[in-house]
Amino acid sequence: MSTRIERIEPREADLGEGMRVRRALPTRQRRMIGAWCFLDHAGPVEFAPGGGMHVGAHPHITLQTFTWLIDGEVLHRDSLGNEQVIRPGQVNLMTAGHGIVHTEDSLPEARRLHAAQLWIALPPDQADCPPAFEHHPVLPQWEQDGCTLTLLAGHHGQRQSPARLHSPLIGLDICCRSAAELDLPLDPSFEYGILPLEGSLHIGEETFDSTAFACFDPGTDSIRLQLAADTRLLVIGGVPFAQPVLMAWNFVGHSREAIVAAQNDWETGNPRFGPVEGSTRRLVAPPLPWIGS
Ligand code: MN
Repeated sequence: MSTRIERIEPREADLGEGMRVRRALPTRQRRMIGAWCFLDHAGPVEFAPGGGMHVGAHPHITLQTFTWLIDGEVLHRDSLGNEQVIRPGQVNLMTAGHGIVHTEDSLPEARRLHAAQLWIALPPDQADCPPAFEHHPVLPQWEQDGCTLTLLAGHHGQRQSPARLHSPLIGLDICCRSAAELDLPLDPSFEYGILPLEGSLHIGEETFDSTAFACFDPGTDSIRLQLAADTRLLVIGGVPFAQPVLMAWNFVGHSREAIVAAQNDWETGNPRFGPVEGSTRRLVAPPLPWIGS
């Protein structure tokens, strides 16, 4: 089977304080892969003591934030009172639903950061669900064809990730030390995106590295991946989302009204967006993109 692969170049984005990331979703070519609606690849980067990622208190609605940490140590704090350090090989999953506020800070003694930060859009019937936070220190992991596979989200054969989701989707980390060739079974009802986080990947005649996000439509039941030595891939997939979501700053919504209300509630200090204990910096929302345009 020949699969038409779309090559998308992640764009550079600045999180402030010199912390640069490569944003693979959304882009002009693809806004979502299944319910995955945002993908930032941060690092790998080394920094001076006290550096790294420091994101002040900011709100979310109608999405789940999904953090996959490869290197470093990051402290998550939220308005539900959760305080959780995430370490390599672990996932943090925060369900915003009706509304949540959080901060993220590299630990003072951390010197490195390498992470994928993703958002999952909530479907309309879960858009306003109560907020929640999960930390998953251990995920299903196995060896296949010289690669180590870690199931971050969804299921793969009989294996199931513990992350609580609301749409059919998958997240998979694949890494190898020596060059390897892997036949990866796929769900033909899913669209997919594969982003090399380290090293490089061949699919057929095409080569992809961390500057190229390989995307393809539903209809494929397996794909042959040829990994160069010391390669790590992030594979995401899902059933195409019924209707594209709206995104503005840290808000996802199924209507402009929902996003306008969230922006107003954040600006006016509505208790929907509670305080984060220990946080000293509260981010200011930029004007909504469709106001004044
Ligand atoms: Mn956030």
